[in-house]
Order: sequence, then C-alpha cells, then structure tokens
Amino acid sequence: MDADISKCFDRINHDALLRKLGQTPYRRLIKQWLRAGVFDNKQFSNTVEGTPQSGVISPLLANIALHGIEKRIKEFAKTTYMKWNGKQLSPSSKAQRLTLVRYADDFVILHEDIKVVLQSKAVIQEWLNQIGLELKPEKTKIAHTLEEYEGNKPGFDFLGFTIRQWKVKSTKQGFKTLIKPSSKSIKTHYRKLADNISDKRKTIPTKALIVQLNPVIIGWCNYFSTVVSKKTFAKMDMLLWKRLWRWASRRHPNKSAKWVKKKYFPHCKETRNWLLNDGEYILNLHSDVPIVRHIKVKGNKSPYDGDWTYWSNRIGKYPGVRKEVTTLLRRQKNKCAFCGLTFGPTDLMEIDHIKSRSKGGDNTYKNKQLLHRHCHDSKTALDKKTYPKFRPQDLPENYVWIDDMLILKHDVPMKKDD
Ligand SMILES: [Zn+2]
Repeated sequence: MDADISKCFDRINHDALLRKLGQTPYRRLIKQWLRAGVFDNKQFSNTVEGTPQSGVISPLLANIALHGIEKRIKEFAKTTYMKWNGKQLSPSSKAQRLTLVRYADDFVILHEDIKVVLQSKAVIQEWLNQIGLELKPEKTKIAHTLEEYEGNKPGFDFLGFTIRQWKVKSTKQGFKTLIKPSSKSIKTHYRKLADNISDKRKTIPTKALIVQLNPVIIGWCNYFSTVVSKKTFAKMDMLLWKRLWRWASRRHPNKSAKWVKKKYFPHCKETRNWLLNDGEYILNLHSDVPIVRHIKVKGNKSPYDGDWTYWSNRIGKYPGVRKEVTTLLRRQKNKCAFCGLTFGPTDLMEIDHIKSRSKGGDNTYKNKQLLHRHCHDSKTALDKKTYPKFRPQDLPENYVWIDDMLILKHDVPMKKDD
C-alpha cells in the first residue's frame, strides 16, 4: 500500500502535535511556527490549524506528527493472524514480515498477504485520526509488486522511484525486483529542462543555457544513480538533444543545418560529437553520470557506532574505491586525520600527503592519510600559507630569543656576548 496524507496536513490539530512533543526545549519555537499565520496575496490570515505547505518546516512537522507510526504497525503485526507453511508465526517474526517505510509524510506498507495490508490500513487510519489526520483515499493505492491487482498495474511509486518485480526464468524465485525512476519523476524532470530551452529564451547565450541545465541534470541523475536508470538516462539525453537542436535552429532560421551543427555542437572532448558546447562550457549528459549500486546499510548500524571495521569494509566494497582507501580507513579507525571526526557513509574523502610532494614528501603509506574533502582543502590552504621569514631587526627593542621565548634583555642572566 502506498499512502498519501500530505494534503490533510492543513487540518492537523496543533494541540495534538504539541502534545506529542512533550516538554522539549523546542516546544515553544515550534508552537510559534504553527501559530505564525499566513501572508497570502497581501492578506493575513491566522492559522489555528494546519502546517505551512511545502515550507521548509513541514517535513519536520510531518516527522513529529507521524513519529510512532512504525511502532504502532509493529505492535499490530504481533497480534494479527499470520501463517507461514501452515504454521502460526511467532510475534517477533510477524513483526519482521510487515514493513513500513516512511519518509516525512510519504510511506508504504509492504506485506505478502493482502488481508494483512488491509488490516494495517485500518490500524493506520485509526492512529491518524487521533491527531486529526486521515489517509487520502484517492492517493492511497494498493498494488501487487508482480501482478495486476484490482486494475492497478504491478509495482508502486515511492519518493520518485518505481519499484516493481518482473517475471524471469533466471532467478530461483522466478522474478526479480527492479527500481527505476518513476514515470512521473521523468516527466517532471523533462518539463523542467524543456522550460529552460523554450522559444521565449531564444536569445540567451549558449553558455548561460548550459550553466542552467547542468545542475538540473546532475542533481536529478545523482538522485537516481543507484538504481536501474541507464536506459532512462540515455532516453533523456536523446529528448534533450532534440529540444536543443530545435532551439539552436530556430535562432538562425536562415542558416543551414551544417552551420548550426558547427556553431552549437562542435567537436569537443576529442571523441564527443553532437554535444552542446561553446568551446568552454559543455553540456553534461545524463549518461555521463555513472550508475553505482547502493550497498544497503545493516539495519541497526550507525556510522558513529565505532564499528570502523564494518564501515571501512562497506566502503571498500564499492567499485572504484581503491584498496589504499580501505587500508588507510582501517589504520585511522574510520576517522578523519584532520578533524578527528568519524567518516559518515556519504562523506567525500581524499588521500593527502602528510608532507606534501612539492616539499619532498614521498608516496608511501607512511606519508599518506585520509581526510574529508573539505578538511583536505583547509589543510592544503594551511600548507600553502607561507610565513614571512623571520628577520632579526623585527625584534622589539631590548628583547632576545632564548629557548623559543622572547625575553627582556635585562632579565637575561648575564652572558659574555651580551
Ligand atoms: Zn575531517
């Protein structure tokens, strides 16, 4: 079941929300946000219920409001009737088999038995009612991941992904699960690109267009780079190219196609052809973003749990991660050698030469350490800082250096040369 309650958030009960918070130090602040009122079309209206829609704060409020829903569903699972191979399951394995995945106000419930799914829906409905929320019927969908169910196509969408299974003969179970960008997400993304290349913007320079398109492309691709997106990315590049060709040709209705090609899609990166560029700025292709399978984090693992063997092994499993990195991670116990903080699973890391190569440092493990990328930048900046050479005449009058300390001359025990 894939559920939507977001639209109901404008009716959320403020007192119920605050009650859930208990006595946290943030209670007052959140209360103020809720009561802040709305400025719409120069008219001020008080808010007595609801939360600001799609405001920065709404995911936080959704998390507060829906906190505990997972626990409720697990409790329900333990009490329900669930059989496997003709035997009643133990409460804990029942709880394990019923899954709720939630991100802010978007969630899915997964179970093999439709009866359990329908019961869960009722439980959730009841739970939501307590805080003044309800499931949105037209946006709450029940589907099977492999077969059609009550007119609904197999699979479901969640956070922009489509998750569904396909019948195949090559696996033991007879099916495999594929996760791809959802068609809704593909359409929205294409719209965003197309709006940037519309006829209204016929006169913007190529450079400006590339600068606007690239972050949109890279951002979208990064989001989907851990799933099956190769074909989608290639298709997107094709559609985008068609748009760009039309955009370029319409700018110069009197020029030949050959001329347009030479002006807007000149050879670049040696092997590349038909890529929008102006010699300096180059359009980023969707298919240039590599697809790297995500390696799932073990359920109860946290990067801060001190189990650096697990984390360095996990990082080491990613294709393209050099053995060097894994070795250094183990040696540093998963901590950055500059700031001393534990590396998080998504942190960018770089290998640093402790004594820089330009100052004669060698390329052995002894002279290497692993740093956060931002820490590496800070360190390099520090390394580059050149301190003005010390000159004796800079000494304040009557002072001398003794054992790294500045000492007034007359305090110095008498020496021959003084
Ligand atoms: Zn660091």
